[in-house]
Amino acid sequence: MTVPSFQPLQGMSDLAAPEIYLWQEVEETARRILALYHVGEVRTPILEPTGLFVRSLGEGTDVVQKEMYTFEDRGGRQVSLRPEGTAGVIRFLAGQGDEAAGARVYYLGPMFRAERPQAGRRRQFHQLGVELIGPPNPAQDVEAVAMQQHLLNAWGLHGARIEINTRGLPDEQDAVSAGIRRALEPDAGRLCEDCRRRLLTNVLRVLDCKQEGCRALVDKLPPVTDFMGQESRAYLEEVKRLLALMELPVEINPRLVRGLDYYLHTIWEIKHPALGAQDALSGGGRYRIEWEGAVVEGVGFAAGLERILTALQQEKGHPAGTAQGRPVAWIVSQGAGTLEQNLVLAQTLRRRGVPCGLALDGRSVKAQMRAANRSGAAFAVIRGELEREKGLVVLKNMKDGTQEELELPALLERLLLATRAEVAST
Ligand code: AMP
Repeated sequence: MTVPSFQPLQGMSDLAAPEIYLWQEVEETARRILALYHVGEVRTPILEPTGLFVRSLGEGTDVVQKEMYTFEDRGGRQVSLRPEGTAGVIRFLAGQGDEAAGARVYYLGPMFRAERPQAGRRRQFHQLGVELIGPPNPAQDVEAVAMQQHLLNAWGLHGARIEINTRGLPDEQDAVSAGIRRALEPDAGRLCEDCRRRLLTNVLRVLDCKQEGCRALVDKLPPVTDFMGQESRAYLEEVKRLLALMELPVEINPRLVRGLDYYLHTIWEIKHPALGAQDALSGGGRYRIEWEGAVVEGVGFAAGLERILTALQQEKGHPAGTAQGRPVAWIVSQGAGTLEQNLVLAQTLRRRGVPCGLALDGRSVKAQMRAANRSGAAFAVIRGELEREKGLVVLKNMKDGTQEELELPALLERLLLATRAEVAST
């Protein structure tokens, strides 16, 4: 006999009240801020051909090698749950031809990576990502960083740090990898097992390793710009100049790398000290991706919403959002015949915009009052046989316990006022 399980799969979560109100708040704020930057939403499928990720993220990357949920669909095609959002958006834009030039889009939704679950690492997590399409241009990179800074401020996050570096040009990447490999080789024996493998397959990932031994070696490495040409260095200098002009507080981290192959020039990461080992809130960079012969260039970033929420809860010290979602009124029915009249009353109130609840199962008045309390409603509206005959209802203030008898038009007016006050306070 199998034991019933109400748990989702490991590393995945059900999201519900009260945290869901904080999710909604974060998402609504993001939509509002992105509209200021003239960035529009795009929704692409969660399932894509595996080749899309292999070709755009890079065959040797950890995401592709170890973390994708890949399977054969019923037609025998290799498909994968998206581990990130850029590849799908670029597939979509590549198909738009010239119309995609200058596109500015964002996406918001779940991503999937079959990682070992640990604090801050989920197998299903959510990202808000932005893609600004256009050829390499320091001003566009800086606009993307400014947008992220604006989002952080609007969410009310203050402790985050933005770190920036350059990935250089595609044809310099072999020289950079070779230079870093040469610098690391004498100490290869002190690298962790993963990094010894990365030394051969994808040496830049060593710079990302969280193991203490590897970090100590990485700290002694020369900056990646030592292995790049004048054009890449000048690009980075221009980005730095514009960042200063915009008064954006960023740090240059000469050893920052991003683990995917499609990046070039500016790359950045936003970290938050409250997050522990997995401290990246968000990552971004400039890229060049080829799909079916079309080349899409742009700059973008993706913020991990779980981590944004964790950082917000840490900074603010409480699980926000508990005040939302509660009804203004809870309607209590007393005696046969009132239930259906109250169903009509609830509908009238809701049509006018008053959030209200009622129990439809004929439970006792005491049980209904308990439900009213639990719901957090500001008022209980009680209507028994006696009030019904007089055409009145009893309005009970749940906070101070005071009661008054009102006619229906007066009730509606009171509850509309209370609804407006509630909306204004959230
Ligand atoms: P990446 O594309 O890996 O740089 O991811 C961008 C952002 O998504 C990171 O900065 C994290 O905030 C978030 N993220 C990435 N992987 C995970 C994960 N497994 N669980 C939760 N958040 C993640």
